[in-house]
Amino acid sequence: MLSIYNTLTKQKEEFKPINPPNVNMYVCGPTVYDYFHIGNARSFIMADIIRRYLEYKNYKVKYVMNLTDVDDKIIKKSIQENKEAKSVAEDFVKAFFEDINKLKIKPADIYPKATEHMNDITKLIEELEDKGFAYNVDGNVFYDVSKFKDYGKLSGKKIDDLESGARIEINEEKKNPLDFSLWKKAKPGEPFWSSRWGNGRPGWHIECSAMSCKHLGETFDIHAGGNDLIFPHHENEIAQSEAANGKKFVNYWIHFGFLNINDEKMSKSLGNFFTARDIVKKYSPEAVRLSFAQTNYAGPLNFSEELLSSAEKGLEKLRNLADKTNEELKNKSKDGIFPEFDFARYEKNFEAAMDDDFNTPQASAVIFDFAREVNKAAAENASLHFEFYQSVKSFLGKTAEEVLGILDLSDQSQLSGNSIENELIELLIKLRAEAKIEKNFKLSDKIRDSLKEIGIILQDSKDRTTFKKNKP
Ligand code: AMP
Ligand code: ZN
Repeated sequence: MLSIYNTLTKQKEEFKPINPPNVNMYVCGPTVYDYFHIGNARSFIMADIIRRYLEYKNYKVKYVMNLTDVDDKIIKKSIQENKEAKSVAEDFVKAFFEDINKLKIKPADIYPKATEHMNDITKLIEELEDKGFAYNVDGNVFYDVSKFKDYGKLSGKKIDDLESGARIEINEEKKNPLDFSLWKKAKPGEPFWSSRWGNGRPGWHIECSAMSCKHLGETFDIHAGGNDLIFPHHENEIAQSEAANGKKFVNYWIHFGFLNINDEKMSKSLGNFFTARDIVKKYSPEAVRLSFAQTNYAGPLNFSEELLSSAEKGLEKLRNLADKTNEELKNKSKDGIFPEFDFARYEKNFEAAMDDDFNTPQASAVIFDFAREVNKAAAENASLHFEFYQSVKSFLGKTAEEVLGILDLSDQSQLSGNSIENELIELLIKLRAEAKIEKNFKLSDKIRDSLKEIGIILQDSKDRTTFKKNKP
């Protein structure tokens, strides 16, 4: 039984989809005004792992992630760079897809963009106005929070406390400082769309209400995003959707903890700001994913380069086992024994961990335990039957590769396609072996290190040297 901590009820609950085996899931995506950073990457990767685990459990997941492509930050950037807002958004949508691909994040089924849903958005605002939940002040339309009796139910905040809090946008047009923008009147030079209130553009919160309803229905199973979105973004989404549809909006709310760097908030001004694309230049996507998976998704994560290098080191063990497994499966040795090994127990433990509110630290510990035990079995026996390695591959494939995305089990011993490149590497391996025989270790090390610099890793075993290529 899968249980999920639900921000709405503040407890772990058994997961019961509305229409099994279908699961409808919405994750708040990026505002496309810059490359996304490693904090955003944490939210995207943990949401990806949750989606992959639901698929592991044979749910049919419809996964929707919005792209906010009209926003103050985009407009600001377009002015700074003297470009059209549309082209800023297009550039960073493209970069977003490149980066999630590098991080091995499975693409969503739908990436709705605000600019392509203007009709749905304005229709929803009209409905709110017609029902008395919104008011128009000279072309600016606001949501009237006093009309929605459940306002605050997600964040646990009370309207009175909020009003005395300082961080509320002051605007004289609002009846109540907590009211928020649904439609913003066009200002000169800004992109705009037409509506019954005049030209303007939507607020951020209404975009998610309109697009999630359009693609997933009025009530759907899971809505996720970073902790910072609980209030006001998700609180406002609930107020809008439930007021318009008169139905519960979302059954399970999942929120990801914030990523900090060396115990400080990540910020450009502190100089501890990393984009995801810079990080994957230095570390493998698997190491990034493992370093996130080793912390519970809901708590804060203290990120550092040491964290990544130690994940990379830990992964070597899994990669070596994957290489050995691929090698043994090629040899298809039937000579060895099939040792006693409780594969089912590891699978059960992996599932028990993930079923407990996606306990990825525990689930990755199960995978590392498994690898240790397999290596022990291999060391204790002269040779093992290839069918044993089939079971090893199957376990690692289902868990480390498919769910956590921390291992690539494809056979890396061959470089794809380019045989001349392969032959040249084999030639260098031969020369290195000769240099070793002549005790010219300076040269043999130089060959190994130079290959490493261009992403070719040599692996020495008892009787031969193989190579693999770090994926770019
Ligand atoms: P944004 O582009 O700022 O709208 O953020 C996209 C997603 O990343 C949202 O789900 C945010 O909650 C999440 N996010 C932003 N900063 C961080 C951070 N430092 N740690 C974790 N998640 C974050
Ligand atoms: Zn959203």
